[in-house]
Amino acid sequence: MDLDLTEEQKLIQDTARDFARAELEPVAAMLDQTKDRDTLLANLKKLAELGFMGLNVKEEYGGSETGVVAFSVAMTEIARACASTAVTVSVNNMVCEVIQAIGTEEQKNKYIPKICSGEYPAGSFGLTENCAGSDPSGMCTTAVREGDDYILNGSKIFITSAPYAGVFVVWAVTDKEAPKGRGISCFLIEAGTPGLIIGKAEHKMGQHASATNELVFDNCRVPATALMGKLNDGFRIAVAELAGGRIGIGSLGLGIGLAAMDYATKYANERVQFNQKISNFQAIQWMIADSYTELEAARLLLMSAAHRKENGKPYAKEASMAKVFATESANRACYNAMQMLGGYGYTQDFPIERFARDARITTIYEGTSEIQRLIISREILRGLKA
Ligand SMILES: Cc1cc2nc3c(=O)[nH]c(=O)nc-3n(C[C@H](O)[C@H](O)[C@H](O)COP(=O)(O)OP(=O)(O)OC[C@H]3O[C@@H](n4cnc5c(N)ncnc54)[C@H](O)[C@@H]3O)c2cc1C
Repeated sequence: MDLDLTEEQKLIQDTARDFARAELEPVAAMLDQTKDRDTLLANLKKLAELGFMGLNVKEEYGGSETGVVAFSVAMTEIARACASTAVTVSVNNMVCEVIQAIGTEEQKNKYIPKICSGEYPAGSFGLTENCAGSDPSGMCTTAVREGDDYILNGSKIFITSAPYAGVFVVWAVTDKEAPKGRGISCFLIEAGTPGLIIGKAEHKMGQHASATNELVFDNCRVPATALMGKLNDGFRIAVAELAGGRIGIGSLGLGIGLAAMDYATKYANERVQFNQKISNFQAIQWMIADSYTELEAARLLLMSAAHRKENGKPYAKEASMAKVFATESANRACYNAMQMLGGYGYTQDFPIERFARDARITTIYEGTSEIQRLIISREILRGLKA
Protein backbone atom coordinates (compact mmCIF):
# COMPACT_ATOMS: atom_id res chain seq x y z
CA MET A 1 0.00 0.00 0.00
CA ASP A 2 1.37 3.39 -1.04
CA LEU A 3 1.06 5.68 1.99
CA ASP A 4 1.16 8.84 -0.18
CA LEU A 5 -2.06 10.19 -1.62
CA THR A 6 -2.36 10.28 -5.40
CA GLU A 7 -2.61 13.66 -7.14
CA GLU A 8 -6.38 13.17 -7.48
CA GLN A 9 -6.80 12.23 -3.80
CA LYS A 10 -4.73 15.29 -2.78
CA LEU A 11 -6.90 17.50 -4.96
CA ILE A 12 -10.04 16.18 -3.28
CA GLN A 13 -8.51 16.64 0.16
CA ASP A 14 -7.50 20.23 -0.71
CA THR A 15 -10.92 21.02 -2.16
CA ALA A 16 -12.66 19.64 0.95
CA ARG A 17 -10.26 21.56 3.25
CA ASP A 18 -10.67 24.84 1.36
CA PHE A 19 -14.45 24.55 1.31
CA ALA A 20 -14.58 23.52 4.97
CA ARG A 21 -12.44 26.49 6.06
CA ALA A 22 -14.24 29.03 3.89
CA GLU A 23 -17.86 27.91 4.23
CA LEU A 24 -18.31 25.47 7.11
CA GLU A 25 -15.99 26.64 9.88
CA PRO A 26 -17.44 30.19 10.07
CA VAL A 27 -20.99 28.87 10.64
CA ALA A 28 -20.31 25.69 12.68
CA ALA A 29 -20.79 27.28 16.12
CA MET A 30 -23.96 29.06 14.95
CA LEU A 31 -25.34 25.77 13.53
CA ASP A 32 -24.60 24.07 16.84
CA GLN A 33 -26.54 26.75 18.72
CA THR A 34 -29.46 27.31 16.35
CA LYS A 35 -29.65 24.14 14.18
CA ASP A 36 -30.34 26.60 11.32
CA ARG A 37 -31.57 24.22 8.64
CA ASP A 38 -31.40 26.66 5.72
CA THR A 39 -27.65 27.14 6.23
CA LEU A 40 -27.07 23.38 6.62
CA LEU A 41 -29.03 22.60 3.43
CA ALA A 42 -27.32 25.40 1.47
CA ASN A 43 -23.91 23.99 2.40
CA LEU A 44 -25.01 20.44 1.52
CA LYS A 45 -26.08 21.68 -1.91
CA LYS A 46 -22.67 23.28 -2.48
CA LEU A 47 -20.92 20.09 -1.34
CA ALA A 48 -23.07 18.09 -3.76
CA GLU A 49 -22.10 20.46 -6.60
CA LEU A 50 -18.44 19.88 -5.71
CA GLY A 51 -19.00 16.12 -6.03
CA PHE A 52 -18.83 15.07 -2.36
CA MET A 53 -22.08 13.08 -2.13
CA GLY A 54 -21.03 10.12 -4.27
CA LEU A 55 -17.27 9.90 -3.93
CA ASN A 56 -17.23 6.12 -4.40
CA VAL A 57 -20.09 6.11 -6.89
CA LYS A 58 -19.80 5.59 -10.65
CA GLU A 59 -19.90 8.65 -12.88
CA GLU A 60 -22.76 7.13 -14.92
CA TYR A 61 -24.97 7.58 -11.82
CA GLY A 62 -23.73 11.10 -11.12
CA GLY A 63 -20.98 10.14 -8.68
CA SER A 64 -17.38 11.36 -8.65
CA GLU A 65 -15.90 7.83 -8.86
CA THR A 66 -12.83 8.90 -6.87
CA GLY A 67 -12.73 5.94 -4.49
CA VAL A 68 -12.73 5.11 -0.82
CA VAL A 69 -9.42 6.74 0.20
CA ALA A 70 -10.66 10.02 -1.30
CA PHE A 71 -13.93 9.59 0.60
CA SER A 72 -12.03 9.08 3.87
CA VAL A 73 -9.77 12.14 3.51
CA ALA A 74 -12.70 14.31 2.41
CA MET A 75 -14.75 13.24 5.44
CA THR A 76 -11.89 14.13 7.78
CA GLU A 77 -11.52 17.63 6.29
CA ILE A 78 -15.26 18.34 6.42
CA ALA A 79 -15.49 17.08 10.03
CA ARG A 80 -12.57 19.30 11.09
CA ALA A 81 -14.94 22.19 10.46
CA CYS A 82 -18.47 20.89 11.07
CA ALA A 83 -19.35 17.41 12.32
CA SER A 84 -23.07 17.87 11.66
CA THR A 85 -22.41 18.52 7.98
CA ALA A 86 -19.90 15.67 7.88
CA VAL A 87 -22.28 13.03 9.23
CA THR A 88 -24.88 14.04 6.65
CA VAL A 89 -22.32 13.70 3.86
CA SER A 90 -21.17 10.33 5.23
CA VAL A 91 -24.69 8.90 5.37
CA ASN A 92 -25.50 10.29 1.89
CA ASN A 93 -22.46 8.51 0.47
CA MET A 94 -23.48 5.29 2.24
CA VAL A 95 -27.04 5.47 0.90
CA CYS A 96 -25.73 6.03 -2.66
CA GLU A 97 -23.38 3.07 -2.25
CA VAL A 98 -26.16 0.73 -1.03
CA ILE A 99 -28.32 1.65 -4.02
CA GLN A 100 -25.35 1.22 -6.37
CA ALA A 101 -24.53 -2.19 -4.84
CA ILE A 102 -27.95 -3.82 -4.93
CA GLY A 103 -30.44 -1.56 -6.72
CA THR A 104 -31.94 -2.33 -10.11
CA GLU A 105 -30.73 -0.20 -13.03
CA GLU A 106 -34.00 1.72 -12.77
CA GLN A 107 -33.51 2.40 -9.05
CA LYS A 108 -29.86 3.44 -9.58
CA ASN A 109 -30.74 5.81 -12.44
CA LYS A 110 -33.71 7.28 -10.62
CA TYR A 111 -32.30 7.95 -7.14
CA ILE A 112 -28.49 8.11 -7.05
CA PRO A 113 -28.19 11.17 -9.36
CA LYS A 114 -30.69 13.05 -7.19
CA ILE A 115 -28.55 12.60 -4.07
CA CYS A 116 -25.26 13.22 -5.89
CA SER A 117 -26.51 16.43 -7.55
CA GLY A 118 -28.06 17.81 -4.38
CA GLU A 119 -31.60 17.70 -5.78
CA TYR A 120 -32.26 15.61 -2.67
CA PRO A 121 -30.41 17.25 0.26
CA ALA A 122 -30.02 13.80 1.78
CA GLY A 123 -30.81 10.11 1.72
CA SER A 124 -31.57 8.22 4.94
CA PHE A 125 -30.48 4.80 6.16
CA GLY A 126 -33.32 3.28 8.19
CA LEU A 127 -32.13 0.24 10.10
CA THR A 128 -32.28 0.87 13.87
CA GLU A 129 -35.45 0.22 15.84
CA ASN A 130 -36.45 0.55 19.45
CA CYS A 131 -36.25 -3.22 19.82
CA ALA A 132 -33.22 -3.61 17.53
CA GLY A 133 -30.14 -1.40 17.99
CA SER A 134 -26.87 -3.29 18.25
CA ASP A 135 -28.81 -6.36 17.11
CA PRO A 136 -30.68 -5.17 14.01
CA SER A 137 -31.58 -8.76 13.07
CA GLY A 138 -34.17 -8.53 15.87
CA MET A 139 -36.16 -5.82 14.07
CA CYS A 140 -39.97 -5.74 14.30
CA THR A 141 -41.06 -3.56 11.32
CA THR A 142 -42.88 -5.74 8.80
CA ALA A 143 -43.47 -5.57 5.04
CA VAL A 144 -46.35 -7.78 3.90
CA ARG A 145 -46.96 -8.51 0.23
CA GLU A 146 -50.43 -7.54 -1.01
CA GLY A 147 -50.91 -7.99 -4.76
CA ASP A 148 -48.30 -5.84 -6.53
CA ASP A 149 -47.48 -3.90 -3.34
CA TYR A 150 -45.87 -4.26 0.05
CA ILE A 151 -47.50 -2.77 3.16
CA LEU A 152 -45.03 -1.61 5.83
CA ASN A 153 -45.90 -1.25 9.50
CA GLY A 154 -43.64 -0.42 12.43
CA SER A 155 -41.09 2.26 13.25
CA LYS A 156 -37.41 3.14 13.09
CA ILE A 157 -35.53 5.28 15.57
CA PHE A 158 -32.53 7.67 15.42
CA ILE A 159 -32.68 8.14 11.62
CA THR A 160 -30.18 10.74 10.41
CA SER A 161 -31.51 13.42 8.01
CA ALA A 162 -35.07 12.01 8.02
CA PRO A 163 -36.92 15.39 7.79
CA TYR A 164 -35.08 16.45 4.61
CA ALA A 165 -34.21 13.12 3.00
CA GLY A 166 -35.59 12.57 -0.50
CA VAL A 167 -35.36 8.81 -0.26
CA PHE A 168 -35.06 6.22 2.51
CA VAL A 169 -33.31 2.85 2.41
CA VAL A 170 -35.35 0.84 4.89
CA TRP A 171 -35.21 -2.69 6.25
CA ALA A 172 -38.28 -4.74 7.24
CA VAL A 173 -39.20 -8.32 8.08
CA THR A 174 -40.71 -10.08 5.06
CA ASP A 175 -40.68 -13.64 6.44
CA LYS A 176 -41.57 -13.92 10.11
CA GLU A 177 -41.05 -17.69 10.13
CA ALA A 178 -37.46 -17.54 8.84
CA PRO A 179 -34.55 -17.99 11.29
CA LYS A 180 -33.39 -14.69 12.86
CA GLY A 181 -31.86 -12.37 10.27
CA ARG A 182 -32.90 -14.52 7.30
CA GLY A 183 -36.34 -13.04 6.64
CA ILE A 184 -35.40 -9.36 6.31
CA SER A 185 -35.59 -7.37 3.05
CA CYS A 186 -34.44 -3.94 1.96
CA PHE A 187 -36.73 -1.31 0.42
CA LEU A 188 -36.25 2.06 -1.23
CA ILE A 189 -39.03 4.46 -0.22
CA GLU A 190 -39.56 8.01 -1.47
CA ALA A 191 -40.22 10.85 0.97
CA GLY A 192 -43.89 11.80 0.94
CA THR A 193 -45.13 8.24 0.43
CA PRO A 194 -48.48 8.03 2.29
CA GLY A 195 -48.03 6.20 5.58
CA LEU A 196 -44.36 7.18 5.91
CA ILE A 197 -44.35 9.61 8.84
CA ILE A 198 -41.40 11.62 10.13
CA GLY A 199 -41.73 11.22 13.89
CA LYS A 200 -40.20 12.67 17.02
CA ALA A 201 -37.00 14.71 16.69
CA GLU A 202 -34.28 13.75 19.18
CA HIS A 203 -32.69 16.43 21.37
CA LYS A 204 -29.05 15.44 21.38
CA MET A 205 -25.84 16.24 23.21
CA GLY A 206 -24.00 17.18 20.01
CA GLN A 207 -24.06 17.23 16.20
CA HIS A 208 -27.06 19.50 16.68
CA ALA A 209 -27.55 20.61 13.09
CA SER A 210 -27.90 17.05 11.84
CA ALA A 211 -31.51 15.96 12.37
CA THR A 212 -32.17 12.61 14.06
CA ASN A 213 -35.78 11.43 13.98
CA GLU A 214 -38.14 8.58 14.46
CA LEU A 215 -39.64 7.15 11.28
CA VAL A 216 -43.11 5.62 11.47
CA PHE A 217 -44.70 3.26 8.94
CA ASP A 218 -48.47 3.29 9.24
CA ASN A 219 -49.82 0.97 6.55
CA CYS A 220 -47.23 2.47 4.22
CA ARG A 221 -47.93 1.03 0.79
CA VAL A 222 -45.05 0.78 -1.69
CA PRO A 223 -44.95 -0.95 -5.06
CA ALA A 224 -43.13 -4.32 -5.21
CA THR A 225 -40.55 -2.53 -7.38
CA ALA A 226 -39.42 -0.71 -4.19
CA LEU A 227 -37.72 -3.94 -3.07
CA MET A 228 -33.92 -3.59 -3.34
CA GLY A 229 -31.79 -6.68 -3.79
CA LYS A 230 -33.14 -10.18 -3.24
CA LEU A 231 -36.18 -10.90 -1.08
CA ASN A 232 -35.16 -11.94 2.47
CA ASP A 233 -31.49 -11.11 1.79
CA GLY A 234 -31.60 -7.64 3.35
CA PHE A 235 -29.75 -8.29 6.59
CA ARG A 236 -26.61 -9.46 4.79
CA ILE A 237 -26.76 -6.25 2.73
CA ALA A 238 -27.07 -4.06 5.83
CA VAL A 239 -24.09 -5.71 7.48
CA ALA A 240 -21.96 -5.29 4.34
CA GLU A 241 -22.87 -1.63 3.84
CA LEU A 242 -22.33 -0.70 7.49
CA ALA A 243 -18.69 -1.78 7.17
CA GLY A 244 -18.18 0.91 4.51
CA GLY A 245 -20.03 3.46 6.62
CA ARG A 246 -17.62 2.78 9.49
CA ILE A 247 -14.74 4.11 7.39
CA GLY A 248 -16.79 7.31 7.03
CA ILE A 249 -17.51 7.64 10.76
CA GLY A 250 -13.91 6.80 11.73
CA SER A 251 -12.71 9.49 9.32
CA LEU A 252 -15.23 11.93 10.77
CA GLY A 253 -14.01 11.17 14.30
CA LEU A 254 -10.42 11.74 13.17
CA GLY A 255 -11.41 15.17 11.81
CA ILE A 256 -12.96 16.24 15.13
CA GLY A 257 -9.95 14.96 17.11
CA LEU A 258 -7.53 16.85 14.87
CA ALA A 259 -9.58 20.05 15.09
CA ALA A 260 -9.55 19.86 18.89
CA MET A 261 -5.82 19.20 19.17
CA ASP A 262 -4.88 21.81 16.53
CA TYR A 263 -6.83 24.42 18.47
CA ALA A 264 -5.49 23.38 21.89
CA THR A 265 -1.88 23.18 20.72
CA LYS A 266 -1.96 26.74 19.33
CA TYR A 267 -3.62 27.90 22.55
CA ALA A 268 -0.96 26.20 24.71
CA ASN A 269 1.72 27.96 22.72
CA GLU A 270 0.20 31.34 23.61
CA ARG A 271 -1.25 30.93 27.12
CA VAL A 272 1.16 32.10 29.80
CA GLN A 273 1.18 30.86 33.40
CA PHE A 274 4.11 30.91 35.85
CA ASN A 275 5.73 33.48 33.49
CA GLN A 276 6.01 31.08 30.59
CA LYS A 277 3.97 29.48 27.82
CA ILE A 278 2.10 26.44 29.15
CA SER A 279 3.48 24.51 26.13
CA ASN A 280 6.82 24.58 28.01
CA PHE A 281 5.38 22.22 30.62
CA GLN A 282 6.06 18.56 30.02
CA ALA A 283 2.53 17.60 31.14
CA ILE A 284 1.11 19.66 28.25
CA GLN A 285 3.76 18.36 25.81
CA TRP A 286 2.81 14.77 26.60
CA MET A 287 -0.86 15.43 25.93
CA ILE A 288 0.13 16.91 22.55
CA ALA A 289 2.43 13.96 21.79
CA ASP A 290 -0.01 11.26 22.89
CA SER A 291 -3.01 12.64 21.03
CA TYR A 292 -1.23 13.39 17.75
CA THR A 293 0.39 9.93 17.87
CA GLU A 294 -2.98 8.25 18.36
CA LEU A 295 -4.62 10.35 15.64
CA GLU A 296 -1.83 9.51 13.20
CA ALA A 297 -2.26 5.79 14.01
CA ALA A 298 -6.00 6.24 13.44
CA ARG A 299 -5.32 7.84 10.07
CA LEU A 300 -3.16 4.91 9.01
CA LEU A 301 -5.78 2.36 10.10
CA LEU A 302 -8.40 4.28 8.13
CA MET A 303 -6.14 4.39 5.06
CA SER A 304 -5.58 0.63 5.35
CA ALA A 305 -9.30 -0.15 5.56
CA ALA A 306 -10.13 2.30 2.74
CA HIS A 307 -7.35 0.92 0.55
CA ARG A 308 -8.59 -2.65 1.07
CA LYS A 309 -12.16 -1.71 0.19
CA GLU A 310 -10.99 0.23 -2.86
CA ASN A 311 -9.04 -2.81 -4.08
CA GLY A 312 -11.87 -5.30 -3.58
CA LYS A 313 -10.27 -7.07 -0.59
CA PRO A 314 -12.20 -8.12 2.55
CA TYR A 315 -12.21 -5.11 4.86
CA ALA A 316 -14.87 -5.58 7.57
CA LYS A 317 -12.34 -6.31 10.34
CA GLU A 318 -10.07 -3.43 9.27
CA ALA A 319 -13.05 -1.02 9.06
CA SER A 320 -14.09 -1.97 12.60
CA MET A 321 -10.51 -1.60 13.87
CA ALA A 322 -10.24 1.81 12.22
CA LYS A 323 -13.64 2.95 13.55
CA VAL A 324 -13.11 1.90 17.14
CA PHE A 325 -9.57 3.28 17.30
CA ALA A 326 -10.23 6.55 15.45
CA THR A 327 -13.39 7.42 17.36
CA GLU A 328 -11.98 6.53 20.79
CA SER A 329 -8.76 8.44 19.96
CA ALA A 330 -10.87 11.42 18.92
CA ASN A 331 -12.69 11.37 22.26
CA ARG A 332 -9.38 11.17 24.15
CA ALA A 333 -8.04 14.03 22.02
CA CYS A 334 -11.06 16.18 22.92
CA TYR A 335 -10.57 15.33 26.60
CA ASN A 336 -6.89 16.33 26.41
CA ALA A 337 -7.71 19.47 24.42
CA MET A 338 -10.20 20.59 27.06
CA GLN A 339 -7.65 19.89 29.80
CA MET A 340 -5.10 22.02 27.93
CA LEU A 341 -7.49 24.97 27.81
CA GLY A 342 -8.36 24.67 31.50
CA GLY A 343 -11.63 26.39 32.43
CA TYR A 344 -11.85 28.17 29.07
CA GLY A 345 -12.21 24.82 27.30
CA TYR A 346 -15.39 24.16 29.26
CA THR A 347 -17.09 27.37 28.08
CA GLN A 348 -18.98 28.05 24.88
CA ASP A 349 -16.62 30.93 24.07
CA PHE A 350 -14.18 28.32 22.75
CA PRO A 351 -14.92 25.49 20.30
CA ILE A 352 -13.49 22.61 22.38
CA GLU A 353 -16.70 21.83 24.28
CA ARG A 354 -18.53 21.56 20.93
CA PHE A 355 -15.85 19.24 19.55
CA ALA A 356 -16.12 17.08 22.70
CA ARG A 357 -19.92 16.88 22.40
CA ASP A 358 -19.75 16.17 18.65
CA ALA A 359 -17.12 13.45 19.10
CA ARG A 360 -19.03 11.55 21.78
CA ILE A 361 -21.61 9.92 19.47
CA THR A 362 -18.96 8.57 17.10
CA THR A 363 -18.23 5.60 19.40
CA ILE A 364 -21.96 4.79 19.43
CA TYR A 365 -23.59 5.20 16.01
CA GLU A 366 -22.97 2.88 13.06
CA GLY A 367 -22.12 0.23 15.65
CA THR A 368 -20.90 0.89 19.18
CA SER A 369 -17.27 0.36 20.18
CA GLU A 370 -18.37 -2.85 21.89
CA ILE A 371 -19.88 -4.15 18.64
CA GLN A 372 -16.70 -3.20 16.71
CA ARG A 373 -14.64 -5.23 19.21
CA LEU A 374 -17.07 -8.12 18.82
CA ILE A 375 -16.63 -8.04 15.01
CA ILE A 376 -12.82 -7.80 15.26
CA SER A 377 -12.45 -10.66 17.75
CA ARG A 378 -14.94 -12.84 15.86
CA GLU A 379 -12.90 -12.44 12.65
CA ILE A 380 -9.66 -13.22 14.47
CA LEU A 381 -11.09 -16.29 16.23
CA ARG A 382 -12.65 -17.50 12.97
CA GLY A 383 -9.16 -17.35 11.44
CA LEU A 384 -7.88 -19.70 14.17
CA LYS A 385 -10.52 -22.30 13.33
CA ALA A 386 -9.78 -22.27 9.58
C1 LIG B 1 -27.30 10.70 16.60
C2 LIG B 1 -27.60 9.32 16.12
C3 LIG B 1 -27.71 9.08 14.77
C4 LIG B 1 -28.01 7.79 14.30
N1 LIG B 1 -28.23 7.59 12.96
C5 LIG B 1 -28.75 6.39 12.54
C6 LIG B 1 -29.17 6.22 11.19
O1 LIG B 1 -29.09 7.14 10.36
N2 LIG B 1 -29.70 5.03 10.84
C7 LIG B 1 -29.83 3.99 11.72
O2 LIG B 1 -30.33 2.94 11.32
N3 LIG B 1 -29.43 4.13 13.01
C8 LIG B 1 -28.90 5.30 13.44
N4 LIG B 1 -28.51 5.47 14.76
C9 LIG B 1 -28.63 4.35 15.67
C10 LIG B 1 -27.30 3.82 16.20
O3 LIG B 1 -26.62 3.13 15.18
C11 LIG B 1 -27.60 2.95 17.42
O4 LIG B 1 -27.97 3.84 18.46
C12 LIG B 1 -26.44 2.09 17.84
O5 LIG B 1 -26.19 1.09 16.89
C13 LIG B 1 -26.65 1.42 19.21
O6 LIG B 1 -27.91 0.86 19.34
P1 LIG B 1 -28.80 1.22 20.65
O7 LIG B 1 -28.79 2.70 20.78
O8 LIG B 1 -30.11 0.54 20.55
O9 LIG B 1 -27.97 0.63 21.85
P2 LIG B 1 -28.06 -0.88 22.46
O10 LIG B 1 -27.95 -1.85 21.34
O11 LIG B 1 -29.23 -0.96 23.35
O12 LIG B 1 -26.72 -0.94 23.31
C14 LIG B 1 -26.62 -0.43 24.64
C15 LIG B 1 -25.25 -0.83 25.18
O13 LIG B 1 -25.12 -2.25 25.21
C16 LIG B 1 -23.96 -2.63 24.50
N5 LIG B 1 -24.16 -3.92 23.83
C17 LIG B 1 -25.22 -4.32 23.07
N6 LIG B 1 -24.99 -5.55 22.59
C18 LIG B 1 -23.78 -5.94 23.03
C19 LIG B 1 -22.99 -7.11 22.86
N7 LIG B 1 -23.38 -8.13 22.12
N8 LIG B 1 -21.77 -7.16 23.48
C20 LIG B 1 -21.33 -6.11 24.24
N9 LIG B 1 -22.04 -4.98 24.42
C21 LIG B 1 -23.24 -4.90 23.83
C22 LIG B 1 -23.74 -1.51 23.49
O14 LIG B 1 -22.39 -1.49 23.02
C23 LIG B 1 -24.10 -0.30 24.32
O15 LIG B 1 -23.01 0.05 25.14
C24 LIG B 1 -28.17 6.74 15.23
C25 LIG B 1 -28.03 6.98 16.60
C26 LIG B 1 -27.78 8.26 17.05
C27 LIG B 1 -27.74 8.50 18.54
